Amino acid sequence: MKPEIIITARGHAGTMAALQSEFTAHLLSEAPERNAFLRQHAATVHGLATFGPMPVDGKLMDALPKLEIISNFGVGVDAINLDDAKKRGVIVTNTPDVLNEAVADTAIALVLSTVRKFPQSEVYLRAGHWATRGPYPLTIDAGGKTLGILGLGRIGEAIAKRALACGMRIRYHNRSRKDVPYPYDPDPVTLAKNSDVLMVVTPATAETNRIINARILDALGPEGYLVNIARGSVVDEPVLLRYLQEKKIAGAGLDVFADEPRVPPEFFTLDNAVLFPHVGSATVETRKAMGDLQVENLRLHFAGQPVKTRVV
Ligand code: NAP
Repeated sequence: MKPEIIITARGHAGTMAALQSEFTAHLLSEAPERNAFLRQHAATVHGLATFGPMPVDGKLMDALPKLEIISNFGVGVDAINLDDAKKRGVIVTNTPDVLNEAVADTAIALVLSTVRKFPQSEVYLRAGHWATRGPYPLTIDAGGKTLGILGLGRIGEAIAKRALACGMRIRYHNRSRKDVPYPYDPDPVTLAKNSDVLMVVTPATAETNRIINARILDALGPEGYLVNIARGSVVDEPVLLRYLQEKKIAGAGLDVFADEPRVPPEFFTLDNAVLFPHVGSATVETRKAMGDLQVENLRLHFAGQPVKTRVV
């Protein structure tokens, strides 16, 4: 008998296929009536495979009293209430490390795109302006500038390596200091003050909610750039929009937004913002590796073995 799981929402196709072949899997997001669906599977479902932002809270866990494990596709587990899981003795797993390089590539692409305005220069060319108006205006170098990393963890360290190769200097702030060769700033405001480009790569938690606010943006100043590769919730989005419109910071590079996939249309008209549709880890190889790890954690758990990448 295959273990029975619920998949919360349709995710990466190859991983969905693996989950559906290895387990008896039911898809929550497409159930015509959520409560009836949960009641129907309550007695037999022992695992959840989660994709995307659908909240997984104590209420959902209580509706599945046999639940033992929640296996998330992605390193960020902000959609899952970890305290609720801990209280109920439910294991939560994620997919760290396998996505570090792809996300760091995206982060550094955002730094270079934002500072050098490469996407805007391409739009200029495609609009025919090169021939009629002349060369695209000069931008500034990334090399020689300071990249401040708020959240120097697994992905942050991979970003630092790439930024060093571009000739940037690195500083960072975490809650706890690390044994790394980069200067440490004691708080996010000091880091912003000391940075030309501020990169946010913390997890989304209650503590980091809107950690990028007017105080931080004031500290970054009119020559400073913000890059957010973390989650939309870490930035006070309306404040950021105003600071970009009023040129109170030089620019922003954003891979993530507060209410994805909806992005406030006012961002679309800004010449000083580069916007990616949450493509941090979106490569064929990385998404496959994330899915393999998500499935592996479920497989190990149902084989009575310790999971590979446990969060709680
Ligand atoms: P990680 O290894 O846990 O690193 C997170 C870092 O943030 C740690 O160094 C941690 O240090 C620091 N941090 C946590 N809370 C903080 C706070 N309140 N103030 C300052 N620093 C804080 O995580 P990771 O694997 O690098 O992933 C980081 C995040 O990136 C994920 O949680 C996810 O939200 C995001 N992400 C985005 C994408 C994308 O597609 N855009 C893809 C993958 C991941 P301390 O504990 O010492 O504070």
